[in-house]
Amino acid sequence: MAELFIGGEWVSALAGATREIRCPADGSLVATVDEADRSDTESAIDAARRAFEAGPWPRTPAAQRGDLLLKVAALIDRDKAAYARAESLDTGKRLVESEYDMADVISCFRYFGKLAAHESGRIVDAGNPDIASRIVYEPVGVCGLITPWNYPLLQAVWKVAPALAAGNTFVLKPSELTPSTAILLMRTLQEAHLPDGVANLVLGSGAEVGAPLAEHPDVDLVSFTGGLATGTKVAAAAAATVKKVALELGGKNPNIVFADADFETAVDYAITAAFLHSGQVCSAGARLIVQNELHDELVDEIVRRTGRIRLGGPFDSMAETGPLISAAHLEKIEHYVAAAMTEGATLRTGGWRPEDEHLKDGSYYLPTVLTDVKQGSYAVREEAFGPVLTVERFTDEDDAVRIANDTHYGLAGGVFTKDGDKAQRVAARLRHGTIWINDYHPYLPQAEWGGFKRSGVGRELGRAGLAEYQEAKHIYQNLRPQPQYWFSRPPQTSSPGRESTQ
Ligand code: NAP
Repeated sequence: MAELFIGGEWVSALAGATREIRCPADGSLVATVDEADRSDTESAIDAARRAFEAGPWPRTPAAQRGDLLLKVAALIDRDKAAYARAESLDTGKRLVESEYDMADVISCFRYFGKLAAHESGRIVDAGNPDIASRIVYEPVGVCGLITPWNYPLLQAVWKVAPALAAGNTFVLKPSELTPSTAILLMRTLQEAHLPDGVANLVLGSGAEVGAPLAEHPDVDLVSFTGGLATGTKVAAAAAATVKKVALELGGKNPNIVFADADFETAVDYAITAAFLHSGQVCSAGARLIVQNELHDELVDEIVRRTGRIRLGGPFDSMAETGPLISAAHLEKIEHYVAAAMTEGATLRTGGWRPEDEHLKDGSYYLPTVLTDVKQGSYAVREEAFGPVLTVERFTDEDDAVRIANDTHYGLAGGVFTKDGDKAQRVAARLRHGTIWINDYHPYLPQAEWGGFKRSGVGRELGRAGLAEYQEAKHIYQNLRPQPQYWFSRPPQTSSPGRESTQ
């Protein structure tokens, strides 16, 4: 016990509360961890504030901060097996997927470790040799970092690495369901000798930890990744103290397949886009939009292959995808499918919990394909965040764009066609933050990531530069200061000649 990391020390929740973390693959107990409340959250904010105001980190040269991040990358690389195992036990995801995430985690720390050293500011040409003018970048201050459960470590690292590189201090609040890798991350930062109070970890609920981070006047920036409803609350709470806010929210992502697409490629990617990590991916291609000519053939093949997807726990080497995060989330998916069918959707495969004996204790749901969904209906409007693919039809390019943009989300989307010009035209017209052409899901740490419309506010930190975690300060220096006398001149000093006349 003592899993809260505050001011450089491991402490227990003040009220003594705990929470059991259970593996969604079989319900087994993974850990019992401290459950913080508002008073713990406030002491973490206080520790981060003190470290920002008086500690060495914000004043450490950027290159040295970068060196520490590179050391963190090396330590995580050393411990990646333990990290991946912990991630899989908390989330139920296949170990191979957690291992894959580790590569992204390490490359994120390396990327920001190198970038930190190069962020030295810029000269502004004032057009006058007597003026020296420059922009310097400074840390924003205390950052509240709030993350979801689907990629717990990766989501945390995409915030922690740039926040540290820019010289900030932070309080991290992971999802209450998946705290284990955040605990490991704090241990690694401690081993790397990050100064006390720079990194703080508070485990607990959205109400007791997340909300205070968004509200507290001593938090300067809140970076939130999660659902639209929670993100809206975070933005409203942060507005009261005019915090900087970055929101990475949900998506209802279109995957457009033209009749001239390579058939095998389109089928394969459509399945991966929808069912990777049981569809619990913000950018999941959950809305397949297929040109009429190809619709029936493509859907038949997707349905056939989806019906054969093998489910299993993290350490089942035959499993192709895993459970949902919790029994509550499983019920949410069941309601979503029921609502879609009430609206007239046709269930082509899935739509049920699997009956296999070895899956009975986990939160599993069969990969599901729904056709005949109507445009504007609940099923194509709302994010399921689970293994459910809806299929719509289109006639031509204009129709495809119109349908794909008919959502209040705008996170990501795919376009499959052999016609390169058409792909670029469609990509240019889609109102979504990332467009993959003849591909789906790859992320580049050096590329920006962010949502249009209600999928986000600000670019996801971490996926390009440090801008979100920095304040730009303009320093303007007059090298030849002289009085200007714009308003009044001082009393004239009398000339000796005049004096002599008096
Ligand atoms: P969520 O319910 O919105 O929770 C996200 C985080 O916010 C959790 O740590 C949660 O704590 C916390 N929280 C809850 N209420 C809060 C409040 N009032 N104030 C501050 N924080 C609060 O989302 P989720 O179910 O964990 O994650 C799924 C969602 O995340 C999906 O919509 C998905 O699309 C989105 N997502 C987006 C991206 C992206 O890059 N755009 C990436 C991944 C996921 P508790 O866990 O304790 O409730």
